[in-house]
Amino acid sequence: MKASKARSLAALDRRLGELKEQIASVGFLLPGSVVRRFMPCGKPGCRCGADPPRLHGPYWQWSTKVGGKTVTRRLPEHAAAVYAELVDNRRRLEAIVAEMQRVSERAAKILLEEAAAAAGQAVNRSLSSVGH
Ligand SMILES: [Zn+2]
Repeated sequence: MKASKARSLAALDRRLGELKEQIASVGFLLPGSVVRRFMPCGKPGCRCGADPPRLHGPYWQWSTKVGGKTVTRRLPEHAAAVYAELVDNRRRLEAIVAEMQRVSERAAKILLEEAAAAAGQAVNRSLSSVGH
């Protein structure tokens, strides 16, 4: 392997190691998202139907997909803070994994070039042995 490629691969390997350490520090996690909403109640004459409307809320919701269907759960405010933290943890994990994939794609390119070069050398060796 060329020195420059070996250095690049070593740097990518170091970065992968850092990302693995970051994953180890990710806490409990949840799918979905936490949203803050203001809503009308629909009762006639209520302020939420006025012009301009004064909606009710804030209400907190956690939404996630279960078997392709979006499931929404209403949350009291103290629960919303906990859910939001766990959802943030999952997003952080996804960001780390996404970077691991980018780093790995760059490493794969180098490894594939090396594998191709090694295969080429093996072919050259077998060809040169044919005539002897
Ligand atoms: Zn209302």
